[in-house]
Amino acid sequence: MNTSVQPRIEESSGSVTIFPLQQLVYAALILGGVTAGAELLNTIPWAHGDISIMWPSTGLMVGMLLCVPQRQWPAFIALGTVIDFAANLMPPLHAPVWLALSASGCNVVEVTVAAWLLRPALAPGRYMARASQLVALLIYGVFVAPGVASLCYATCLSFLVHFKPFWQIVPEWFPGDALGITIMTPLYLSLRSRAPFSKRPWYEAAGLFFLLIVVSVGVFWQTSLPLLFAILPVLLLVEVRLGMAGAALGLLAVSTIGGFLTSRGHGPIGLTVLTPSPRTLMLQVFAFVSMLLVYIAEVVRAARARLELNLRASEQRFRLLAEGSSDIITLANLNREVVYVSPSATTLLGWDRRSAGLFERGAMVHPDDQASLEKLYTDCLAGKARNILEFRGRKRDGGYLWLEANLVLHCDPETSDAAGFINVVRDISGRKAHEEELNKALNVAENRAITDAVTGIANRRRLDEYIEREWQRAQTAHTKISVLMIDVDHFKHYNDRYGHLAGDRCLREVTGAIASVVQRPTDFVGRYGGEEFVVVLPDTDLAGAWHIGEKIRRAVELEQIPHEGNPHRVVTVSIGCATTEPSGTAQSVQLLESADAAMYQAKEAGRNCVRLAN
Ligand code: GH3
Ligand code: MG
Ligand code: MG
Repeated sequence: MNTSVQPRIEESSGSVTIFPLQQLVYAALILGGVTAGAELLNTIPWAHGDISIMWPSTGLMVGMLLCVPQRQWPAFIALGTVIDFAANLMPPLHAPVWLALSASGCNVVEVTVAAWLLRPALAPGRYMARASQLVALLIYGVFVAPGVASLCYATCLSFLVHFKPFWQIVPEWFPGDALGITIMTPLYLSLRSRAPFSKRPWYEAAGLFFLLIVVSVGVFWQTSLPLLFAILPVLLLVEVRLGMAGAALGLLAVSTIGGFLTSRGHGPIGLTVLTPSPRTLMLQVFAFVSMLLVYIAEVVRAARARLELNLRASEQRFRLLAEGSSDIITLANLNREVVYVSPSATTLLGWDRRSAGLFERGAMVHPDDQASLEKLYTDCLAGKARNILEFRGRKRDGGYLWLEANLVLHCDPETSDAAGFINVVRDISGRKAHEEELNKALNVAENRAITDAVTGIANRRRLDEYIEREWQRAQTAHTKISVLMIDVDHFKHYNDRYGHLAGDRCLREVTGAIASVVQRPTDFVGRYGGEEFVVVLPDTDLAGAWHIGEKIRRAVELEQIPHEGNPHRVVTVSIGCATTEPSGTAQSVQLLESADAAMYQAKEAGRNCVRLAN
């Protein structure tokens, strides 16, 4: 790929010198050499009063100007003019001073016009990489600048030397200079770029040029066969392998060899065109057509290379995104055959990327989550917008990892038809562990809120909720509900005699005795307050309730908790018993009041007994 880049021009920098001596010396040497070469090439046509084959100095000057800041243009133009003027005065041209002056003046016009017009198109980026640059070169370099200069020259000649019509003078100047600009300007610019000859090894470049020179000499030496076309494939090969610099240098070689040999009567052009001037013109047309061919090829090739580069860059960008992500990213077709899996599959689960097919098919998913994953795909395909699922992915070591799939249906950008699935799978094990901890803490807090701290059974809040719920249930089911109000006898004395801590212990033992009696899953024991307990007995009549109450009373007594302040010498309880079938506007609290009243009757009756509410 041709990566030639236009040399950067530090236009804005104030430190740019107007007269870069060293560069000017180099430029003088190159220009002098090229001018001498051009004179050698054109000796024979000039000797016959014929038109120039090619005048490369102008194109070279244009290339030089395009590579330097505009502040330095006057110095370079002056240098070019001096060399040109000297060449005009010296042999073989031997022009009179003022003819030399006018020719050099017209050259200044040509160079300035070409460089000025080409600057916007050729200054930024790669030379000849775009069609717009080729068009600019053709319009300004081939037509406008040589056109203006040759008209200038024709005017000078007409007025200063002898009158000749324009159409006779213009061909003397125009084609040679146009060819020089189209070959030398791109050649100079691409040789000044960072990677001339597309970074090919020197022996490849040398071999290709050798081949081109051999073919060109062969074609232009012989006069028997019209083999001009044989040069084109070699020229194209040079362009394809060596890029713009190769193409321009190849054109220079072909034009020089062709011009040199044709002007000496050799070559296939002499087969059909017999007089010298049209022969040179014919050669120039051939060089120009070849130039068009290789430059168009270069533009097409560069455009493709640019496209490829962009594609590769964008592919690389997206691959980087996917590969750098800590999420597992998978791409599957509609049959859920995995096309791509990001490396996180290995990092997170231990599976290599080839085994990733298992992932989409659910084989790497916990059996309990497989149905949900199937549904996720079905929903996604049906067009559901958000498709997120928490599931457990199987690791290579057999364990499971909590993951979250985020499934998206991707569509073909051209047809908009569904094309497959993109699944972004995130490791949520940390989040899950955190959630579990939170849930545990919440459970503990919730339990605390409804548990009595001293006895560990339900507290008053929970008790109220339970009675209310069972009350509603009994109301709808038309069943009976009973409650027992249990109060420890002479508990104040117990605290006074044994202390409050012993009192707490006693309450726990009483709780244990009550719980040992209350066995049915729907029965419920709660601490009502102080040393009072309530037992809720859903679906239980008064006789049943009395029976349970009596068993509780006996169980507490049988605990034989010593209590000096109690006439029985052990801890006893008094129990009030109430039953109802909730109806109408009756409230649960009324049932509790009845049980409480019955409990007081038990106290009055001498304690350690069970009494039924009226
Ligand atoms: P009665 O036989 O008439 O029920 O007499 P009593 O002393 O048991 O009744 P009273 O209502 O006069 O006293 C209840 C006592 O229970 C008062 C309080 O010191 C004690 N008490 C209430 N809650 C707790 C508790 O959580 N721990 C302890 N150790 N004592 C408690
Ligand atoms: Mg009490
Ligand atoms: Mg009491």
